[in-house]
This record gives sequence, structure tokens and C-alpha cells, in this order.
Amino acid sequence: MFLNPLLTPLRIFFETLAQSLDADFKREKLPEPSTLPEKINWQRTLPFLFLHGGCLAVFWVGISPISLAAALLLYVIRMFAITGFYHRYFSHRTFKTSRLFQFLAAVLGNSSMQRGPLWWAATHRHHHAHADEEEDKHSPLTKGFCWSHIGWLTSMRNFPTPYEKVHDLSRYPELVFLNRYDKTIPLLYGMLMYWIGWMIEKKFPNSGLTAGEFFVWTFFISTTLLLHGTLFINSLAHLWGNRPYRTKDDSRNNFWLSIITLGEGWHNNHHRYPHATRQGFRWWEIDITYYGLKILSLLGLIWELRPVPDSILMEAQESPSSMFN
Ligand SMILES: [Zn+2]
Ligand SMILES: [Zn+2]
Repeated sequence: MFLNPLLTPLRIFFETLAQSLDADFKREKLPEPSTLPEKINWQRTLPFLFLHGGCLAVFWVGISPISLAAALLLYVIRMFAITGFYHRYFSHRTFKTSRLFQFLAAVLGNSSMQRGPLWWAATHRHHHAHADEEEDKHSPLTKGFCWSHIGWLTSMRNFPTPYEKVHDLSRYPELVFLNRYDKTIPLLYGMLMYWIGWMIEKKFPNSGLTAGEFFVWTFFISTTLLLHGTLFINSLAHLWGNRPYRTKDDSRNNFWLSIITLGEGWHNNHHRYPHATRQGFRWWEIDITYYGLKILSLLGLIWELRPVPDSILMEAQESPSSMFN
């Protein structure tokens, strides 16, 4: 009995470890998520502390043009996977693709350490159903900036995947696998990055690049920036920008956010009509994700991209000059 004080932290440690390897670990024994408090759970902060803490290693490993360019390139490629597929495909089904291509896109999105595609899509569908209401998990209006940006991700209330919201996706066992073991791909991605860095170090010793430096830039820094870029859509895109559409939420159109997120900054457009593939509705609203998806459709890899109806375009009260308001 006197062992109890020692066993409890040990049990928590091993359960946390198991849960980080298998997101559905002991799922049936967890309390109903809506009954849990909306507060930070220290175990759930560990992946974020790991990511941000890893960035500090840059002071030891330094920087080189190759590492910087690779980190930027992987930011852009993986942001495209998040916006084009996690968001516009899995969450909103705005176009169609093959089973193989949806799996490959899910793997790429998963390497961003933003959890599995089913959790992401289910959580995002909930946001659209309750945007800026009390029920919304990440509204800066009802819950404050810090909670809407990152706090909500650390609450056990928002951890389990509500599979009932993604029946259309959970019929694919390969997607359920990625969702359940959602640290597998990030782990493989990290190993791949270290291996590429090691190969450059060995084959091109004159480059001065080290495996550690390449790993810190392409894994820690690129992934952390990608995480915050995406999270700004939950926080800043409901606070900063203009509102050509009088939606019932407080979503905004913001040019700067659209640049760092490859088109997701046209968030007010998106809340008005989430069924369209494009989020930049007018020619001056730069939507790099949409241009990328158009190229994929010309290559025959995706099809049936859904347009914005004329009636929705006519509704907007906006001109190019109002873009920076
Ligand atoms: Zn929103
Ligand atoms: Zn959406």
C-alpha cells in the first residue's frame, strides 16, 4: 500500500507514453470529453514543449543556406498538404481524388505534427458548426487569444477523435491507422531529415553542413513555424482583417495571413461558403493552395473542384483597395 504514491506517477508516465504512441489508447475508459474541464493538461503540453524546445538547438548547430532553403521548402510543401488536403479535402470535401492519392496526401499532412486527418477534420467541422459560439473549441472572442491559438490543443477535452463526425473518412482503415498512430509519420519524417542531412555532410563535406543542423531546421523549426502559421487561422483570422461577408461568426479576410498559409487567410470568404475549393474568391485574393490544386487537377490527380457560385460572389462588399483594411 505504501507503494501507491510511487505507482501513481509511474502509471501516469506509462499511460502518457502509450497515449502518445496510440491516440485511441484506453479510449473506451476515458470520460465523455464534453464533461472534462477546459483546462491545460500538462501531459498534452509535452509534444509542444518538445517542438519549441528543439528549436533552441539552433544556437548550437547554426545555420547554412541549404538548411534554411530546405526548411522553407518543407514548410511550403507541408502547408499545402494541410490547407489543400487536411482542410479543403478531408474537412470540407471540396474536390475528389483517388484512394491512393488521398492516403499519400494524408501522410504528408501528418508529418506536420498536427495529429491525424480524422481528428483534424472532425475538430474543424465542429468549428464551422459553432464558430465563435460558446461551443467553439478555439474562438478568440469567447475564450481569449492564447487559448484559441494553442491552449485548446493541450486540453484532454479536445484530445479524443469524435469519429461520429467523420463517418465518410473512418471507412478507410489506412486513414484510421494514421489517425490512431499519429506520431509514426512525424517520427519517420524526423529520421528521414536526419538521414538526408547525414548524406549531405558525408558526400559534400565542403558544404560545412552537419546532419544536426539540417535536422534542427527541417524538423523543429520548419514544423514549429508551420504549426503557428496554421493556428493563426483559428486565432488571428477571427480578429484581424476585413469582413466583406456578414457571417454570423467574426471571421476575417487578411492578406498577410493568406501569404503565410498559402491562401487560408481569406477566412471570411471561407466561412461564408466553405464548399468551394478556392478561398480567394476574387482575382486579387492570392490563394496559392488553389493554384496548386488546379495544377494537380490538370495532371488528373484530383478532379471535380467545386466553384464559388455567382450569387455568393455578388454578395461581397469588397474591392481591391479594401484588401488591407
Ligand atoms: Zn474560422
Ligand atoms: Zn474550414
